[in-house]
Amino acid sequence: MIYTDTRDNTVKVSLKEAVLNGMNPKTGGLYIPTSYPKLSDEILNQTAAPSFRNIAFEMAKLYVDGEIPDNDLQAIIADCYPFISQLAPLDPYSYCLELFHGPTCAFKDFGARFMARVMSYFNRENPDPLHILVATSGDTGSAVGSAFHNVPGLDVTILYPEGKISPLQEKQLSTFTGNVRALKVKGTFDDCQKLVKTAFVDEDLRSKFRLSSANSINITRLLPQSFYYMYAALAVKQRAPYDSKIENPSIIVVVPSGNFGNLTSGLIAQKMGAPITGFVAATNANRTIPDWIATGNYEPRASVKTLSNAMDVGAPSNYERIRAMYTLDEVRDLFASYWLDDDGIKKAMKDCYTNTGYVIDPHGACGWKAWDDIRKGAMLNLQSGFGNDYNKPGLTPNLPKWANDITNKKSVGIILETAHPAKFGEVVQNAIGVNPSIPDRLEKVMSLPDHAIPMNNDYDEFKKWLCENL
Ligand SMILES: *Cc1c(COP(=O)(O)O)cnc(C)c1O
Repeated sequence: MIYTDTRDNTVKVSLKEAVLNGMNPKTGGLYIPTSYPKLSDEILNQTAAPSFRNIAFEMAKLYVDGEIPDNDLQAIIADCYPFISQLAPLDPYSYCLELFHGPTCAFKDFGARFMARVMSYFNRENPDPLHILVATSGDTGSAVGSAFHNVPGLDVTILYPEGKISPLQEKQLSTFTGNVRALKVKGTFDDCQKLVKTAFVDEDLRSKFRLSSANSINITRLLPQSFYYMYAALAVKQRAPYDSKIENPSIIVVVPSGNFGNLTSGLIAQKMGAPITGFVAATNANRTIPDWIATGNYEPRASVKTLSNAMDVGAPSNYERIRAMYTLDEVRDLFASYWLDDDGIKKAMKDCYTNTGYVIDPHGACGWKAWDDIRKGAMLNLQSGFGNDYNKPGLTPNLPKWANDITNKKSVGIILETAHPAKFGEVVQNAIGVNPSIPDRLEKVMSLPDHAIPMNNDYDEFKKWLCENL
């Protein structure tokens, strides 16, 4: 596969170059594939239950396109995914795709582990370490820290907004030693991201260090996330006719979104043949994308703090990729969008628990509520001319092409559960009155000492620190 740039489509680079650069240092653009080869019919039409690792390997092979020999790639996939995603049925028409079975209990483990191993592979003959800079709104930092910890030839600096992530998230990314360290920045996630982006285009800094990124702007974070979309869509395609009694239902995937990396991965999976009819982009009060779909005007803004803080992004980086892949009209055909304020998120967790018995985290809750509302009337209202005011929480007044599948009851939904509810235990407890049980791997990290380094939201200070400490 050849990769190009969202800002200059004459650019053509290999996976190795795209991975090690992170973003194009010349244009500031993001890498995307130039084409999307279809997965073989043998896999797309298979009647045996799909295997996550087999799908991962077959898709990765297309992305890598000979740059990593099959044997090495098999080993990378096996090392990345000792865990898999799991499909939990909530009712006959709805599935929760649990993406939290990895070491840090969030979906970002899928991307970060693949990225770390591919980077390490491509860097294996280089004597100089590759310095990874990551801005995180919560879960990226821990997933990247965990995925890169003790990987030779790689060195990681994580920036996070002080006071804007949960105490557990903070522990998960600030307790590493050795090749992984965290800076707590006095600012927002967008400030952290700006510091990182400024460093990447700083010629002087780049002449001193080999820099690379690791958040969702890196293409090797996005590509592996497409594995679980393919896996889940194929698995649901097989079982949904039995569960729902709908013959050949259209499959709608509901994605709780912040930076829109996860949703972009879904778009890639769909282009490669995943049987997905449409997407729902679900956000919290950071509703830049829903507003764009409603009005046609893309207006990035400062992020606001919400109960689903890993989605607190006002200027989603992957908007640029979505725009390079689709026109606004195509996006409007393909996506419904939906947003909730904090009261809505609390109610969503409560309603999900009451109606299905499932304890959902505040991110997944945005997705669950979106799906529940869409199929229980919001889409029909919209079709009947009683759409929601886009300034109010709820379904964005935009009719996707698949709206009739919803109102004719010919669709099933897959809601991505992006984090384990215990990562947001207090928020969940307040909403539903039940404390989610804590997986061992989370409990352990709470007792480790914190090594975070304080940092002002000031590029000169940040640069000076890098020069003195890398
Ligand atoms: C990062 C994250 C999101 C948002 O994913 P994007 O790819 O940034 O849209 C949603 N939920 C959780 C729990 C996350 O950690």
